[in-house]
Amino acid sequence: MRAMVLEKPRQSLQLRDVPKPKVRAGGLLVRVSACAVCRTDLHVVDGELPDPKLPLILGHQIVGRVEEVGEGTDPQFKVGDRVGIPWLGWADGDCAYCRSGRENLCDNARLTGYTINGGYAEFTVADARFCFHLPDRYHDVEVAPLLCAGLIGYRSYRKTGHARRLGIYGFGNAAHLIAQIALYEGRDLFVFTRPGDTATQQAAKKLGAVWAGGSDEMPPGKLDAAIIFASVGPLVPAALHALAKGGIVVCGGIHMSDIPSFPYRDLWEERVITSVANLTRRDGEEFFEIAPRVPVKTKTETFALEQANTALEEFRAAGLKGTAVLVTNAN
Ligand SMILES: [Zn+2]
Ligand SMILES: [Zn+2]
Repeated sequence: MRAMVLEKPRQSLQLRDVPKPKVRAGGLLVRVSACAVCRTDLHVVDGELPDPKLPLILGHQIVGRVEEVGEGTDPQFKVGDRVGIPWLGWADGDCAYCRSGRENLCDNARLTGYTINGGYAEFTVADARFCFHLPDRYHDVEVAPLLCAGLIGYRSYRKTGHARRLGIYGFGNAAHLIAQIALYEGRDLFVFTRPGDTATQQAAKKLGAVWAGGSDEMPPGKLDAAIIFASVGPLVPAALHALAKGGIVVCGGIHMSDIPSFPYRDLWEERVITSVANLTRRDGEEFFEIAPRVPVKTKTETFALEQANTALEEFRAAGLKGTAVLVTNAN
């Protein structure tokens, strides 16, 4: 099968003809139809995340059809079923984190497109227990970005509790999806973009934000919570400074540049800084239940599998109008 392979960080992906992966007990062999590109993929390519499996097939927002079912696999998936494969590919179910409902923090987790192969390929294998059925209202390309930007964005959003005045720093793919749920749930939305990016600010207002401005500006009034989707450390003290008492800053990304120091008075009065790591299967079940009700709409730009490097470079250069989706075996 054809796959785009990362042999070493800081190199381009290589188009390779590699053996089709073998389905294991409890697993699925999936014919990939679409795989969305995530900022995490760029972090892996750039060598910003430690110890990726090498050589590696990237991609953890995979939509495909079950081609073969391994022995003893949970009967919830049959040959021909559509399936979504997310970032959390496997957890041991046995460590202190898994046993306390926090499989996203599992000591032995296997992460799709990072520590196990992902979906920049014609086929992939996955543990059926960690796969999702996807809502029928979406076709393959449009549902792909929901598998990470949507799902991990949703986990970030849930950490903001019942915040009425919600700030979002960085209005990229995840923010655009989560903003739709926040508005659906009646939150007041304050969107912060790169200073001077009036086009994105206009887009945020059009979507329903009550205010949009540069990340160097203060919102009108204090925020109950802020989610940071940009991988820019200095946004943490900026967001903290914009919070009301008891407010929370949620860092929604896997990597961020260093966070500068800030005065303790900005953290005082029970303000909180936290991060979101990975996802649990429960996040996925909740998210795929609410997403079609909103309905959350995605914006995508499609690329052929062989164009993965172009997709990554355009993403890096912020040249995309939507989430890049690699289309492999189109349905
Ligand atoms: Zn991701
Ligand atoms: Zn575990």
